[in-house]
Parts: sequence; structure tokens; C-alpha cells
Amino acid sequence: MATFDDFHGTYFTIQSLRLHHPEIMDKVEILVIDNNPDGKHGSDVRGIINHINSTRPNFQARYIPHKESVGTSASRERIFTEARGKFVLCTDCHVIFPGGALAKLVEYLEANPDESAIMHGPLLYDDLRGVATHFNEQWRSEMWGTWGAAWADKTGAHFTVIDNGGKCKYVNLIDGKTEVAPLFVKSGLDWAGHERILMGSGCRNLGKDPSEPPFDIPGQGLGVFVCAKEHWSHFNPDCRGFGGEEIYIHKKHRAAGKRVLLLPFLRWLHRFGRPDGVKYPLTLWNKVRNYVLEFQEMGWDLQEVYNHFVIEQKRLTQDEWNLLISNAKTTLTQPSAAHWREMYSSPEKIVEKVKTEKPLASIHMDLLKKYSEQVDDVLDIGVNVYTTIATFVGTKKSVVSYTGVPDDPTLHKLMQLPDNKQISVNQLETLDYSKLQPADLISIDYTPEGQVLTQVFNNIINFNLAKRFIVIHNTKAFGEFSPSKGYGLMVAIRFFLKQHPEYTVIEHIHDGAGITVLSKDERDKTALPKFTEMVGNLFGAVKSYVAEGAGMVSKEVFEARLATCAICPHRNNNRCGLCGCFLESKGRLAGNAGVCPIGKWAEVERSLE
Ligand code: SF4
Repeated sequence: MATFDDFHGTYFTIQSLRLHHPEIMDKVEILVIDNNPDGKHGSDVRGIINHINSTRPNFQARYIPHKESVGTSASRERIFTEARGKFVLCTDCHVIFPGGALAKLVEYLEANPDESAIMHGPLLYDDLRGVATHFNEQWRSEMWGTWGAAWADKTGAHFTVIDNGGKCKYVNLIDGKTEVAPLFVKSGLDWAGHERILMGSGCRNLGKDPSEPPFDIPGQGLGVFVCAKEHWSHFNPDCRGFGGEEIYIHKKHRAAGKRVLLLPFLRWLHRFGRPDGVKYPLTLWNKVRNYVLEFQEMGWDLQEVYNHFVIEQKRLTQDEWNLLISNAKTTLTQPSAAHWREMYSSPEKIVEKVKTEKPLASIHMDLLKKYSEQVDDVLDIGVNVYTTIATFVGTKKSVVSYTGVPDDPTLHKLMQLPDNKQISVNQLETLDYSKLQPADLISIDYTPEGQVLTQVFNNIINFNLAKRFIVIHNTKAFGEFSPSKGYGLMVAIRFFLKQHPEYTVIEHIHDGAGITVLSKDERDKTALPKFTEMVGNLFGAVKSYVAEGAGMVSKEVFEARLATCAICPHRNNNRCGLCGCFLESKGRLAGNAGVCPIGKWAEVERSLE
């Protein structure tokens, strides 16, 4: 068991084990992990273990101080690390088992030595009669999981009942979501008193009779559970503080192909009352952080965690949520109000805040800011707020933004800072190209579809909107193919550049989802060589052509060469900025007459072989 400043609970749990279960004591060891050994109760807990060991030399009890990490995951995980037995029963330090329950457990495990399930027993209510068998997969009161009772209908089919706004909802016992229709049970029963009506309809409360066979449950409170050491699924090592492991550990165990069982004979009584208050650090931040870490570990959608804590309970702000999901491992404590005031104190701080929340956007924000700093006005078309923020911080004068997140609070905090820049934020859906003014920089971050990008390019050209830079996002993630299996963004860019050679790819970043910058401004392109140098290059090419008589390359090679030049940062309109040659002419020549100065054509030709 793990304990934290709970000598009273620990004492009675251990003594009850010894007093009421003497028949198994020579087959087990008792292990106490003290998560607060220097606390007020630490020496007494250590003392009782020492006393028992000194008076009963053959009895195996161990006291292990655990100060390294405080929390239910860490201390329970230490139990599995330290335990010497094949099976581990992990119990809270304020639990009592009815006489005979543990002997039955030992008997069951001896008969099933290969059991790989996480095993639970029914939780006895304080009236010592009623039981709860499992956790339903529901969010309530800052917890994932609500106590429930398992039922079988007249055919023996298992189900559970969920309180759906005062009415009963019957769902599959294991997934907790799929609605079922138990035989002979009326739909839409009132929640209050439904148990009596279900029993009157021939249904049976599962797990109430200790002699019943084990059955599968979705999960349960971790006050008591048993698992073979070798089959244990392990808690997330970064979790801290108390709470958040239920359902997660059960789903993780099942995802590994193992079961979660209820053993009806393993009844347990749990002390919930805490008249002296909770001694351990129980914080909301720890709980949400643990859920975030666990969901991210398992690759589950975080939406339900967000809905519960941010939308329904309103216990976390959007900023706090953003910080948690981007940096859960390192953000151990809830930031103070002063922290957020500091974060919103300057445009640079706001950029840093967004980069912390969206590490993948960090390089893209730096790049956008770098180009925006060179211009007066920006047109920002996108679904993400970080493009608007980066360009607004960078630009000298103004940003017109058509964005999918016009109400983003961080953007509005930025807009409230004293500044002489102009910003107009509009809903993306209201975008009408015919009403836009030309801009020095256009940022496009709203489509993975090459076909849509082609339409955007057409609008930019038709309405003469681009004065210098065009920045296109996601060109790596959706470069050649779009999610709808159409052509990708790089295909659209190559197509555009073929029609508009006055634009050059001046930067192409492969990090994250990729980003590509085009410019038609001569200042941004590789300058052509001096006239005399160009004449020399041309003469050399002609000389090689005549001397070698190598002729022309195939149409396929020619087109591949031009496609390479199209997105090469050294292209200057129709010419190569490095040698000054006209690409349409030089690109046709074979042998040493037709060579890219930096070997790019040779590379592409090798890939065609
Ligand atoms: S010839 Fe080579 S360096 Fe010149 S534009 Fe083409 S790919 Fe670039």
C-alpha cells in the first residue's frame, strides 16, 4: 500500500490484514510505500512496521520511504517495482477486506497462475450490503469515471446504467457508450428507483453474490486492484500529484490485449471520510496535467478532457490549457496571474508565448516575422492565429487578416497593446478578393489542396494583389498530394511559376509542415552575373556543344530540368542567376554544354534512370 500522512488508516489496514486474514499471512509480504516519510505521520508508520517485524521475526513487512516523486501514480508504481511476489495487490492505506476474501483471492491466483488481467473487487458501501462494481466512462466532478453497478438482463447480457439527466440510459458495460436495449426493460425509466424496476423486470445485479464467477468490467477506482507483476501496464512516469489514473490504466491494459476483471469475492470497504482534511497536495492542475500526459501517451483525442475542464467546469483558462497540452511534461505547476500579465506585456512576449504553446509553429513564426519586417503591409489568409500574430508583430504598418480564429483571445490582447500599426481582423468565410488592396506580403495558410491554391494564385494575379512576397504554408505536409488525393501545394506552386516566371522561390523550409516563400522583387533574387562573365559562360557552352556533338536531351529530361529550375532559389525569371544562361535554351543541351552550375540537373536525371 502507499501512504501519505495517514498513520491511522495505515495502522488499521495492516492490523486488519493480520487479524482477519491470518490464513494467508505466511504466503504474502506487506509493503508500505511512504510518500511523505518526513511528514507528521512518517515515524509512526515506520514504527508500526518495525514493531511488527521485531515481535514476529518471520513476518514479512517492509517500509520504503519514497520522496522522489509525490503522487498516486509514482507511489503505486513503486509498489510494483519493490514487490517480490508474482502477484501484487495494491490497496489504499484505509481499506478493510471481509474475512475470507483474501484467502479466496490466493486460491484464485493459485488456480490461475497465468492470469494477466487487472483484477478488482466490488466496493462495499458503508451499509455493508450494497456494492459498486466498476467505473462508467463518464466525466464528472473533475474525474474520469463514475461508480456504477453492473447488470445482466434475462438473457444474461451485461449492461450498465447511466444517469442521463434524471433518466436511465442503458449502455454496453465495457465501452460505456453503445446504447443497448435490455430484454423486458422499459426505455426511459426514471433514474431514481430504477434498481427496483430493473429487478422486477428479471434483471440481476452482477457482482453482488461473492460466489459468482469473475466478469469483465471497463475499469474501477484504484483503491484496490491486483495484477501480476510481469503483466503490469505501468503508469505514466511523468504523472505527479493525486488522481487521474483510473480508466486510463484500464484502457491501456486492454489495448495491450489483456483484460480487466471483477472478482465478486474480493469485496473491500474504503474509508472515504476525511474529517481532518486531505493531507496530500490535491490540485486541479495535477489532475488535468496527468490526464493530458496520459491521453498524449496513448494518442487519444484530448477533446473530452478539454470539454470537461475548460468548457463545462470552467476550471482552466484557454491559455492554461494551451500551455498544458504543449508542455505538460515540464509545466509542473499552475502559472500565476502575474505570469500571464508578463506574457501579455509586449508583442515579443506574446510571440514567445504562442511559440511555447505551438512549438511546431515556432520556426514558421520566425520566418513570417523576418519577411514581415521588410514590408509595410500584409494580407494574411489562414486558419491559424499564429500567422496573424507573427505578421502583425513584424510589419511596419498594417495587416489585413482573414482568419479562421478572429476571436482568438491572444490576438485581441496583442491588438490592445499600444502601437501605431493597423490591423483588420475578419472571418475567413467573408474573404472577397475583388475588395482587397494590394499587399507587400501575402501569407496563405488555409488549404492543403493544390487546386484551391491555384484558385488563390489566380485571384492574386487577376486582382493584382501581390507586391512582393507570397508565403505558402504546409508545402511539405501536402507537397505533392492533397488529403483528397488531388494534386498538392508544390504542384500548384510549380504550375504557377511556369506561368509566372517573374516569381522565384526564395526560401523553402522543410521543418514542420513546410513553408515556401516566393518573390517577384529583384532585390530578393540571385543577381545575374556580369555581362562579360555571362558571355564567357555562353561561349564555353557553345564550344562544348560543337566539340562533343552531344545533341539534345529527351523531352522528359528537359521538362525535369525546368521543373527543378522552377523552384530553385537561383532562378532569375527565365535565366539561371548563377551562369546567366536562358534556361529554355540551355536546358535542351546534352553533354557538358547542358550542365547546372551546382549539379542539380545531374541529380534529377539520375532519379529518372
Ligand atoms: S540551372 Fe541549376 S542553379 Fe540555375 S536555376 Fe536551374 S537548378 Fe538553379
